[in-house]
Amino acid sequence: MTESSPDPVFPPVTMHAVRPNDPVVARVHSSTPATSRRAASIVRHVEVDVSGTPLEGAFRAGQSFGVVPPGETAKGKPHGVRLYSIASPTRGEDGAGKILSTTTKRVISEYADAEDAHRHELFLGVCSNHLCDLRPGDEVLVAGPNGKGFLLPEAPEQHNYIFLATGTGIAPFRGFLKELLEGDSPCPSKILLMLGVPWETDLLYREELEALAQKHNNLELRWAISRENHHPDRGPYVHDRLEREWSELESRFTDPKAMVYACGLAGMQVGVFRLLAQRGLTEQFLKIRDEETAGMDPSEWDAARIKRFVRPGARTKLEVY
Ligand SMILES: Cc1cc2nc3c(=O)[nH]c(=O)nc-3n(C[C@H](O)[C@H](O)[C@H](O)COP(=O)(O)OP(=O)(O)OC[C@H]3O[C@@H](n4cnc5c(N)ncnc54)[C@H](O)[C@@H]3O)c2cc1C
Repeated sequence: MTESSPDPVFPPVTMHAVRPNDPVVARVHSSTPATSRRAASIVRHVEVDVSGTPLEGAFRAGQSFGVVPPGETAKGKPHGVRLYSIASPTRGEDGAGKILSTTTKRVISEYADAEDAHRHELFLGVCSNHLCDLRPGDEVLVAGPNGKGFLLPEAPEQHNYIFLATGTGIAPFRGFLKELLEGDSPCPSKILLMLGVPWETDLLYREELEALAQKHNNLELRWAISRENHHPDRGPYVHDRLEREWSELESRFTDPKAMVYACGLAGMQVGVFRLLAQRGLTEQFLKIRDEETAGMDPSEWDAARIKRFVRPGARTKLEVY
């Protein structure tokens, strides 16, 4: 590796301006599909007007906020808060920090119960469906902002970016891309966004992202479509696609100014961290907290070992859920 750029410095953030046990009333501003109309998964782009609440002007791109759904659990307790990544830039959707957005996937499946193999009625996630059901003008209880570990650096132009997302993990990257590229002086950093989804119709914000990439030639988009065997962008998963296209992508990762951000499904951490280590990039991007793990061939690291002992380094940001 050539001489490294300084380690990134991150801006201070407001946390918990509104506590989840004392949420405030905000209003849904808009709700639109974030995927193609024919998508297998149902994901909505929901904009929430937080004006007049302590959240107004208090959030940064990359943070999340809390939503408290109405009603009670089966045990009679009020439902707890759920976190949703903010999909807006720091200036919000409106340019004044009054409207934030998120990318919400309806949790829908058949019930799975380890103690009752015959239980299979419809399982609907409480908060994701509440949020997706709301109409413009409806009230929603919110809290936050939350998180200080998934932010753009204070001097974004000093770095180049590799953004890796699966599914709704795209949310913070939508905010980052708007923050970096829209406005009077777009950031000249080189940016790669790779988004992994099961089917092409599940691609989130496709038109918006493609329009940004058309306008800014420092942004490259790559899709990893996992379940369409015939698809030219077949992954199957994000780390597989990185591996397959390593000869084209290697220079982005060995670039001394590179930062890697990964957001989405928890499984992504395993594949991406193992790949970085196998490609000799541990020093740049990872911290290994255990001598035995450090001495092993990374191809032998299993998921439990990676989750326990391998952490993001100063140039790596990880948010998985
Ligand atoms: C930092 C952070 C950021 C996040 N950002 C986003 C985001 O941007 N967009 C987004 O959509 N989500 C996001 N999430 C996830 C979100 O917080 C919720 O967890 C998600 O929406 C599900 O909540 P729910 O109330 O709909 O589901 P719940 O009612 O809480 O149901 C989910 C729970 O039920 C269990 N379960 C799931 N399926 C079944 C089944 N078939 N049978 C029985 N039990 C089951 C699961 O184990 C899980 O514990 C984020 C989470 C975190 C921590």
